[in-house]
Amino acid sequence: MLFADIIIDISVKNLDKTFQYSVPSEIENDISIGSLVQIPFGNGNRPLKGYIVNLSEKPSLDISKIKSIISVEKQGVVAESHLLSLAGWIKQNYGSTMNDAIRAVMPVKREIKEKVVKTVFPLVDKKQMKALIEEFAKKHNTARVRVLKCLLELDEVLYNKGIDYGFIIKELKVSKTVIDGLKQKNIIGIESAKKYRNPFIKGTFTENKHMLNETQQYIKDSILSDFNKGIRKTYLIHGVTGSGKTEVYMSVIDDVVAHQKQAIVLIPEIALTFQTVSRFYNRFGTRVSVIHSRLSDGERYDQFVRAKEGSIDIMIGPRSALFTPFKNLGLIVIDEEHETSYQSEMPPKYHTREVAIHRAEMTGASVILGSATPSLEAYYRAVNGEYKLFKLEKRAGGAMLPDVYIVDLREEFAKKNYSIFSEKLSSLIKERLIKHEQTIIFINRRGYAGSISCRQCGKAIGCPHCSVSLKPHIYKGSVSRLKCHFCGYEIPMPDVCPTCGSKYIDIFGIGTQQVEEAIKKNFPCVRTLRMDADTTGGKEGHSKILERFKNGEADILIGTQMIVKGHDFPNVTLVGIIAADLSLNTGDYRASERTYQLIAQAAGRAGRGNKKGEVVLQTYQPEHYSIICAARQDYESFYKQEIVIRQMLQYPPVSNILGILVFSKNEENASKLAIEVSELTKKYEMITVLGPTDAPIAKAKDIYRKMVYGKCFSYSVLCSVKDCIEDFKEKDTKYNDCGINFEFNMTR
Ligand code: ADP
Ligand code: ZN
Ligand code: ZN
Repeated sequence: MLFADIIIDISVKNLDKTFQYSVPSEIENDISIGSLVQIPFGNGNRPLKGYIVNLSEKPSLDISKIKSIISVEKQGVVAESHLLSLAGWIKQNYGSTMNDAIRAVMPVKREIKEKVVKTVFPLVDKKQMKALIEEFAKKHNTARVRVLKCLLELDEVLYNKGIDYGFIIKELKVSKTVIDGLKQKNIIGIESAKKYRNPFIKGTFTENKHMLNETQQYIKDSILSDFNKGIRKTYLIHGVTGSGKTEVYMSVIDDVVAHQKQAIVLIPEIALTFQTVSRFYNRFGTRVSVIHSRLSDGERYDQFVRAKEGSIDIMIGPRSALFTPFKNLGLIVIDEEHETSYQSEMPPKYHTREVAIHRAEMTGASVILGSATPSLEAYYRAVNGEYKLFKLEKRAGGAMLPDVYIVDLREEFAKKNYSIFSEKLSSLIKERLIKHEQTIIFINRRGYAGSISCRQCGKAIGCPHCSVSLKPHIYKGSVSRLKCHFCGYEIPMPDVCPTCGSKYIDIFGIGTQQVEEAIKKNFPCVRTLRMDADTTGGKEGHSKILERFKNGEADILIGTQMIVKGHDFPNVTLVGIIAADLSLNTGDYRASERTYQLIAQAAGRAGRGNKKGEVVLQTYQPEHYSIICAARQDYESFYKQEIVIRQMLQYPPVSNILGILVFSKNEENASKLAIEVSELTKKYEMITVLGPTDAPIAKAKDIYRKMVYGKCFSYSVLCSVKDCIEDFKEKDTKYNDCGINFEFNMTR
């Protein structure tokens, strides 16, 4: 027998209030998570509608007290149903509670009231108004006089439109009774309108629709020809930045919208600039809406309501926009598909690309992925024919790719140049200052701490048991110990390089601040702007800095990976990458992939206008394939070398990795549970188990964290491990003070 947990009202607040009903066997095949059903409710068995949010074979209360579902609603597709079944799929495939999964797909607080604006407008003409004012003045009705005078002073257009109700109350200090009195005398009228809080920044739109070039047209035609034949697929457009991908998305959306279907366009938050968004507004007008993290809950709610009501066709936004409740979704675009922000860091730890493809399959939509540096996952599937691959090889405006110089930092050191800047980079910066062109200095730094490297031999100090570099642990401003975040191996900070004996070893992770200081010292009159997590606080911190740079308020912009995303600076003709290796020593199996992406994207910032750009790439590993390939913007060679390594080591996208995080305030219990988890996992012969070990961050906020990893070619086997561990944890009360999170790195 099957039991269903049902919620009557889908509001985030009420999620925990589910009611269990039994499923009559004759409808068992017609229901799933998300189904809308009729149930008898309360003492009077009033028939009500509710959604199934969970199904189980065990009743959670006395079976005699469980009522039975009356029927399944077989009406059209309801957005809520879809999103709830999507939540069910997310729970099943990523491991989380059903509540967390539903909160992820319905991020909106529902109790927020819609904003209503009231306007007060005159029902008499200006001549009558004057007479009325005189009359009220005689009677010393000063409040009435204030209101009418204010209306009288408006110009003709505004006089007919009226003024804001709130303004009269607050600024004119007039009470509600006075306004109502005037209304009763038919001197004024009051109009209420539902107002949607439109989050979009106001501005003027000037961009024109371009004639597509031949390749763009071919891509558009191919996708639309599939679409019109009813074929739904995933497409990957691999095209350098500026090759015209966005133009293709928009032209496909044109057609999708013409077919009364809707589109979702996902863009990483950081690339969600005024420039990008206004291109869509310009083309599709008010049928577009945007959500982003700076919206209030109310504003976000409004945008979702507008989508549900059908008053918009296109939603633009980061990851969470994927869950826009469109009724007739036709297309999902994921721009900058490789971006790490598409991976949710909170449970459920879903990947946006995978969930998008699943939502598209459920609703009969197509998916377009776009990137200059595709993720290995997407490219692997494109090469294997699962996705259809398109290439845009040239920049649409005809701009040329920059010249790239690779500088070996070991040689600079041998030449006794101890500065952060190589000779080449220094001389090119000088040239730019003379020519009044701009420079971007990029510090390829990711993750938490850097590593300790030797400036003579270039080696990072690594763990003897793992292929990762040791992380410096800083005490009172200097490095005291080095630790391995995988196995826990730990040594005091050595005085000399363990490889070559040089005493020039230091933290390899110079900050943006140091670079800015060094620039100011080397080039005294230079104007700089710095962009990193410290300077971008506040509401629109980062777009302000970029705007100032674009307006020519600085010669050099220094920043972390934040500056390399999707911005167009026509006057930037030089990009300097201070230490391209930084992202290679992170100890992540994706380190080479990230390095390729960061360098290629950074290099793509140079020469976006009609002037040719140059890039100086400083590195200790000029022979590393990710650096050589990125310098040539040769993604395919990079992919061919990287995929071999993934194959050899059974890493995604060839295989799957399930990371199981066990955490608890009680370290002993966390360790014990981690051992049990690894034993349970080892029972599956197809899985290679690693661990338990301390998590990369072994203790966070006084919670101890242990990891077990399972590698397996079959994703569904890993899902069964997850189910089995969840089951075990639920039954065994010894571990009530522990939690478990799952993180899938997958090929599917
Ligand atoms: P991407 O999304 O690949 O970075 P965009 O679509 O933003 O590329 O195009 C880059 C620039 O080239 C934009 O300024 C865009 O207006 C312009 N552009 C795109 N397609 C064409 C075209 N067919 N003809 C002329 N200009 C184009
Ligand atoms: Zn180690
Ligand atoms: Zn050395």
